[in-house]
Amino acid sequence: MPNTIVVGLQWGDEGKAKILDELVQEAKQINNKRIWVVRFQGGPNAGHTMYIPMPDGKLIRFVAHAAPSGLTSNSEIGIGPNVAFDPERFIKEVEEARSVFGYSAGIHISERTGILFDYHRKLDAWQESLRTGDSKIGTTGSGIGPFYMDNANRATRITFAEYVSDNFHDILSKVLEQKSYELVAARISSLVTGKYIDELIAVHDPIRKELRKCACELEYRLREALEKGENIILEGAQGSMLDIDMGTNPDQTSSHLLATDPLGGLGLPRKAFRIYGVEKLYPTRVGEGVMPTLAEDDFGIETQRNAGEAGATTGRKRRVGYPDWVIVKYAAMINDIDGIYLTRADNVQDKNIKVCTAYDANGKRTEKVPSKLETVNPIYSNKIYRWHLWDGPSDLSKPEEVDKALHDKRAAYVKGGCESLPKDLKEYIVDHERYIKNPIIGMSIGPARGEIVKL
Ligand code: GDP
Repeated sequence: MPNTIVVGLQWGDEGKAKILDELVQEAKQINNKRIWVVRFQGGPNAGHTMYIPMPDGKLIRFVAHAAPSGLTSNSEIGIGPNVAFDPERFIKEVEEARSVFGYSAGIHISERTGILFDYHRKLDAWQESLRTGDSKIGTTGSGIGPFYMDNANRATRITFAEYVSDNFHDILSKVLEQKSYELVAARISSLVTGKYIDELIAVHDPIRKELRKCACELEYRLREALEKGENIILEGAQGSMLDIDMGTNPDQTSSHLLATDPLGGLGLPRKAFRIYGVEKLYPTRVGEGVMPTLAEDDFGIETQRNAGEAGATTGRKRRVGYPDWVIVKYAAMINDIDGIYLTRADNVQDKNIKVCTAYDANGKRTEKVPSKLETVNPIYSNKIYRWHLWDGPSDLSKPEEVDKALHDKRAAYVKGGCESLPKDLKEYIVDHERYIKNPIIGMSIGPARGEIVKL
């Protein structure tokens, strides 16, 4: 059953796009039917990075912010109703995919999806500038918070159906009028003048023209695809701990991003899908917010540097932590997952790795995640794991530069399968499965397509 939902089990940047791409490759082997990759929440605050080997052996880096990662595999791509859809960025990414990968498949955008505009970005920057000290959220500045406020406000939401309609200019003008207090307060009052509306229209009219044919009732289109036995992969963004309700308040994102959320909006049945969680071997967090196992020692510093842990959207350094299985177990539960892909085992080879298996919450031991994570201290198990995969460069922050040196070593593990993995890594897998009560089905040991050991 190749229909899959992919979500992150930590604070994002787990490597979801790479796993999605892998699932597309698998689906291609299983049947000859169309493959759909559908984004279901968030917006260009995501930065899904993929490394795709080209026929000449060169590794190409592609980052999808606004578009689904299916652009690299010539899949049908879809945009669901809960996405903060940024047409400017989307169209650029589609054009890039056309020129680099010859992308030519269909684009399907729900008529219900809301549009993210330039004023959302400006309001985002202004709102964050008003927050001081601890109250800063550390947003990516992509306009996500203000967009979802408009979405919930209904009257100031512009849907994709309206965006591509002949009434768009009038609708935009009315929305800006309603938002004028906010825009003036943000000291961007010039925005409400006709000039700003004209600027928006000049940017969007050519895009609207090009995207008009992509508008659809996505829920019906996907249901038909399901009935025809086509392959549907739903692409989550960010990570479960950033979910608006279930994440670490208030440093989370503004959308619902758990695996079962899109089923309602897209009209799809849970029973037709496998849900896979993606877990990075060590958690990372960009922006503000608590991370109980934050590693401020050599492990954290070196992993941050050698794994190139910096955000694809903002370039900000990501804080690194020791593995936190309490978080992963919680995320596995609230997403109802069927299996886990573990990524970046190569980035922490030759390092002593300790694992958090409980929290001390006000003097009491617990294996549960409380709603306020600030109050807990990690309790680590006594076991230290350490594995060695290969001799070679330790700085893996620029995958293109080390690809030649490591390609064959990675390929040997992929071919050798689980048995070929170092003893401590195998033990890590077994202990992890015992604790989380969910199988690890793939172990990623490199950034590029194909570099996954199937377990
Ligand atoms: P996403 O937003 O969850 O898709 O994750 P990002 O795009 O922010 O970051 C994932 C990065 O990690 C991408 O550049 C991947 O190519 C890379 N990556 C994924 N798995 C592995 C792995 O096992 N080893 C290494 N070295 N890199 C990986």
